Amino acid sequence: MKTNWFDKKVLILGLSKSGIAAAKYLNDKGADVYITEIKEVNLDNYKELTDAGIKIESGHHSEEFIKDSYLAITSPGIPPQTEIFNKLKEEKVPVISEIELAYKETGKPFIAITGTNGKTTTTSLTAHILQQEYKAEACGNIGLPPCALLTKDLDYFVLEVSSFQLHYSDAFQAQIACWLNFTPDHVNWHGSLENYFNDKAKIFKTPQAPAFAVFNAKDEKLVEFSKECPSEIFFFADKMGKNACYIENNELMFMRNNKVEKIMEVADIPLMGEHNYQNVECSVICAKLVGLTNEQIADAIKSFKVPAHRFEYVTEKEGVKFYNDSKATNPESAIVAINSFPEDQNVVLIAGGRDKNTDLTEFCNSIKKHISTVILIGEATDRFEENLKNSGFENIIRENTLESATSKAYSLKPNAVLLSPACASFDMFSGYEERGDVFKNYVLSEV
Ligand code: ADP
Repeated sequence: MKTNWFDKKVLILGLSKSGIAAAKYLNDKGADVYITEIKEVNLDNYKELTDAGIKIESGHHSEEFIKDSYLAITSPGIPPQTEIFNKLKEEKVPVISEIELAYKETGKPFIAITGTNGKTTTTSLTAHILQQEYKAEACGNIGLPPCALLTKDLDYFVLEVSSFQLHYSDAFQAQIACWLNFTPDHVNWHGSLENYFNDKAKIFKTPQAPAFAVFNAKDEKLVEFSKECPSEIFFFADKMGKNACYIENNELMFMRNNKVEKIMEVADIPLMGEHNYQNVECSVICAKLVGLTNEQIADAIKSFKVPAHRFEYVTEKEGVKFYNDSKATNPESAIVAINSFPEDQNVVLIAGGRDKNTDLTEFCNSIKKHISTVILIGEATDRFEENLKNSGFENIIRENTLESATSKAYSLKPNAVLLSPACASFDMFSGYEERGDVFKNYVLSEV
């Protein structure tokens, strides 16, 4: 039964996009909404909320806000070790995520897409394909909270879901849940790699198990895990089991109960790299499961525009092609972009930024095969240089800014310049978007 929110006191942790969407939704439903934000903010910027009767405090979490709350909804940015959660436990206030709230409030199905890399690409592509037939929206981690869509009469919520959100989602159940890949990331937030895996694994297990579970056949940990899942299983990236989507003889194929159909020619897919083919395959499985035709699926894929900063082609100047992969904030995502170039090409890689201190062995191996020169920027420079040199790669240049790195890369006249940093951006930029925009603007106007 749906909750009657009238006069219920609800506490929102964090003035994040998702927190604000939940606050507005609940306020409209008659709840008594309090938002508590630990950072000091200028409340004048939130007049729309306070005018609507939502109470906001910043710089601290007060007793008055916490006490007697019926429920707390937390922003995915707040790690579970944070003190406020102990306080809420003492006060016996249950804590859920914004996605769990959206799930409980709508009766509509969710397609949940999780994984370390490729979530945004796969979520946007899946929503784009479903829109051929249904009212479907990409939401969640992608930047549009599902609570902001509750008043729309959607047929499907296509949800990019991070491990952070799943941590606080104990009831959320997807109709289809997809796990793209699993590599070490976000260990600080979760406390350990095992916790990170288990938070993601939750949505595949009873009582949250989806009708259909979709896994990467090339990820051994996920293949192993799929054996524990009670859902009907589908694989992508390889022909495995009796249900799969994969590439064979340059054709994209779908198989259900061993019956094989052709979806389209690989040459007509507008995304680059094996990793992106995997994302496409995962989206195709979702689209087939909700009943789209092969023709609808192929047409939608052909008209899809790759989201910015994800191995995005920028331009070609005097025979040098530029690619912006600023969203590659960990070595694994940089590796897939690097491996997309043939071994005999002259490719310059611009890497570095805020180091996540992850293992660089595979990253160095890929560079040795596919990259001619690496230009390093940012805080990670020393460690990256040391690792590359230890692996036997010597063509390393150090630069102080992304602009000077880009000019230097162009002056080497390679076939391609790839910005794929394998690091976070916060040492030099406000985020990966700014880093990618600086690169693109510089390439288009200066080099
Ligand atoms: P996420 O939302 O999970 O961060 P994105 O779609 O934004 O994923 O892509 C993030 C980075 O990972 C980009 O650099 C992109 O090129 C790379 N990437 C995309 N899909 C995959 C994949 N399936 N496996 C590994 N890396 C990927």
